[in-house]
Amino acid sequence: MATSEDIEKPKLLPTKILKCKNPECKAWVREEFATAEQQCPMCKGPMHRSMKHLPAVQNKPKRQPRKPKSDF
Ligand SMILES: [Zn+2]
Repeated sequence: MATSEDIEKPKLLPTKILKCKNPECKAWVREEFATAEQQCPMCKGPMHRSMKHLPAVQNKPKRQPRKPKSDF
């Protein structure tokens, strides 16, 4: 018998994020995906660090090294 307990719930982990300082802009990004400038992707304004409970990322984001085009 399957109970609701058996349904896999995504685990929420406290995750570091960057949140836009503009109260009218609800943009936020995971800190690991944020740009070095820590600029809001929406309004280009400043962002501040915050925490958010997010489901665990299943596939760790791999930083793909930029492959030089081999068109020589
Ligand atoms: Zn913004």
